[in-house]
Amino acid sequence: MLGTMQDRPLTLTHFFERAERSFARKELVSGSATGVERTTYGEWAERTRRLGGVLDDLDISADGRVATFAWNTARHLELYFAAPCSGRVLHTLNIRLFPEQLTYIVNHAQDEVIFVDRSLLGLLAPLLPTFETVRHIVVMEDGGDVPDPTGIELLDHEELLAGASPVEFHVEDERRAASMCYTSGTTGNPKGVVYTHRSTYLHTLGVLGADAIGVGERDTVMPVVPMFHANAWGLAHAGVASGASLVLPGPRMTPPALAELIESERVTIAAGVPTIWMGVLPELEGRDTSALRMIPCGGSAVPKALSEAYREQLGLPILQAWGMTETSPVASVAITRSWMDDLDESVLADVRATQGPALLGVELRIAHQETGEELPWDGASRGELQAAGPWITASYHDDPRSPESFTEDGWLRTGDVAVITPDGYVQIVDRTKDVVKSGGEWISSVELENEIMAHPDVAEAAVIGVPHPKWSERPLACVVVREGASLAKDDVLGFLDGRVASWWLPDDVVFIDEVPKTSVGKFSKKDLRDRFGGHQLPTV
Ligand code: ADP
Repeated sequence: MLGTMQDRPLTLTHFFERAERSFARKELVSGSATGVERTTYGEWAERTRRLGGVLDDLDISADGRVATFAWNTARHLELYFAAPCSGRVLHTLNIRLFPEQLTYIVNHAQDEVIFVDRSLLGLLAPLLPTFETVRHIVVMEDGGDVPDPTGIELLDHEELLAGASPVEFHVEDERRAASMCYTSGTTGNPKGVVYTHRSTYLHTLGVLGADAIGVGERDTVMPVVPMFHANAWGLAHAGVASGASLVLPGPRMTPPALAELIESERVTIAAGVPTIWMGVLPELEGRDTSALRMIPCGGSAVPKALSEAYREQLGLPILQAWGMTETSPVASVAITRSWMDDLDESVLADVRATQGPALLGVELRIAHQETGEELPWDGASRGELQAAGPWITASYHDDPRSPESFTEDGWLRTGDVAVITPDGYVQIVDRTKDVVKSGGEWISSVELENEIMAHPDVAEAAVIGVPHPKWSERPLACVVVREGASLAKDDVLGFLDGRVASWWLPDDVVFIDEVPKTSVGKFSKKDLRDRFGGHQLPTV
């Protein structure tokens, strides 16, 4: 027997039309090179419809890829909806990718047009001759003063908009591609993930859930996480869907500028990767952060010390989330549950240092690395984390590497090693390729880093495995000392003594000026391995 319910497609046009009608007065704030710009969902919707007309005028194919090379702004948000709601596919380009990777993904995705912020034109211009399918470059003025490159025809965004007619949005099939994103590709070329209207719709509902991020109309959400990195964790869509005000920092990405926006715009939810929050904390000192109620953070493990430092200074710990480009990205959030209310703060801090339980709608499991056998949720068994659900990708876009990333029964192999507690709390131990394999046993580089970063004089720390004649690999700690402090190898090792098993103690400590970061702000272990892979460990 089938049900009697209407089978209406889950498409982004519904979010768009709802914001256009019901939230027209709500505000969108965008940072620019010179200050902040203000608009409303009403004006945004009107421009978004005309932007649909621009895509028609530019003769972009019915499912043509519309690329963006842009900061987080209301203009970028127009493209977030104009492209998919007119049937096209938004492709957000990561402005920090290596040039050859950008060339690869633009050609692989077959982008037809790129909308670029003026202040970023200098990064993109040298690559334009390498793009095989791009027919138009549209420049969006963001207060930047990068001059036009010579010999390339550029179109002016505002001129195009002024000359275009608004269009009706209609998407029949919820399985139609809405947007695409490439992983940042620490090894090999980036891999593409294509989101559907349906997957984005359901992921947004997931993010809006009270036990996830719980975004509501009363919120003012500031996604510091870029709109080119895994859909800004769904927060741009969540803003439009819920009518929450959005504060989009544009190029104003320095810690003082972000701290100022949090205070002046009375931001309630501010989301970004751990390195952002490390920089912003001292800048929040003495500011009014009373509106702030949640700091979602993920992309790499959130050091317990960082979360606790926020709790001490702001009375608000960081909310850890886990996900991947492949999972839209939010798959789990480290909420605490009602029965934990009476627990000690130190125990709660440990709960917050996990990646939390899966969101409603997502299934997670752990499997033995070699046999693939499913492992119990006993808080001890370590295995590869695998994911399934309506907003988890089933393959990579046009990529022969797809099969190795999926199990026979279609689950995504995340490449993360995790433990799951009986209550379903996931603890990421490491990335498969970063775990230190010492004498057949595993040492979690993430756990070691967390412990080292708890030292008050340590600004950042990353741990890599380096070759060892007897143990195959041993941990090397790469430590950045806090400004004005001084630290020796024995201080670090002495601090770790008793905090980790003795056989986990790094064989050596090197002091560096900065931990190299990837294009999305994560510690780049690959760069550290290139630099220290041949490091001679002391023999005793
Ligand atoms: P990339 O592979 O390009 O870094 P993603 O941003 O999609 O792209 O990264 C996903 C990976 O980031 C996950 O597989 C995991 O290793 C890591 N990650 C994300 N969130 C967390 C978290 N809260 N704790 C630990 N690792 C995380």
